[in-house]
Amino acid sequence: MEPERFICRTCAVQHAGYEREPEQCKICTDERQYVGWQSQQWTTLSQLKSEGFQNDIREIEPGLSGIDTRPHFGIGQRALLVQTDAGNVLWDCIGYIDDATVERISALGGIYAISASHPHFYGSMIEYSHAFSNAPVYVPEADKEWITRPDPAIQLWQDSVELLPGVTLVQCGGHFPGSAVIHWAAGAGGRGALLTGDTIAVVQDRDFVSFMWSYPNLIPLPGSEVRRVAAAVRPYQFDRIYGGWWHSVVESDGQAAVERSAERYIARQQSLP
Ligand SMILES: [Zn+2]
Ligand SMILES: [Zn+2]
Repeated sequence: MEPERFICRTCAVQHAGYEREPEQCKICTDERQYVGWQSQQWTTLSQLKSEGFQNDIREIEPGLSGIDTRPHFGIGQRALLVQTDAGNVLWDCIGYIDDATVERISALGGIYAISASHPHFYGSMIEYSHAFSNAPVYVPEADKEWITRPDPAIQLWQDSVELLPGVTLVQCGGHFPGSAVIHWAAGAGGRGALLTGDTIAVVQDRDFVSFMWSYPNLIPLPGSEVRRVAAAVRPYQFDRIYGGWWHSVVESDGQAAVERSAERYIARQQSLP
């Protein structure tokens, strides 16, 4: 049996360490995140199980399900499972996995490939890979320094990769150099959907999105980076945008929402002294 690896309680990202707790979390000690207010704390999958954690899987629209952990764990994100006839893609991972999760995902067709918008959503992606025949885990070359648990399943990529017909990884940069989105052509009833995590953040006013270098510490991006993110998704047709949480959805007119949000963001910066 594989040794249990430690998972950071604040960000839910699993690290390679197993014999003793890592000294610090690579993700949380970066300026884009934060060390938990109870200081650095670690856990393991079996400890989480004994504490009663469970995953909830719900259909969001035909062909798309969300997976999150109850009670709240890490930064409370939900993973997405894009289901196609050719296989499924797990997008943006969570920290917890158990036998019930594997059974539920298997019933939905399993996992063909795994990727994430950026390192804050790496979760226990290697555990998910191992549970599904070592499904390849796509990590952008530009973010390989953020791999906290190296594994042969990891495949480095850049620019864009069509994981399955109509499911395309697109590197945008911004929040992280390798920050990415998935373009799902069949999403939103065939009008196209973008799965963005924090790469393009759906904000409280769901007609707009935003772009930040650090969300919890409120550090903005330069206008040039915002332009780069908007330009990276411009070639793709999409109506809906799914951010990293259940409620963060631009229901329609997503393409225009990205354009007007980028323009607003850059104009605001230019109006500052
Ligand atoms: Zn952490
Ligand atoms: Zn983030």
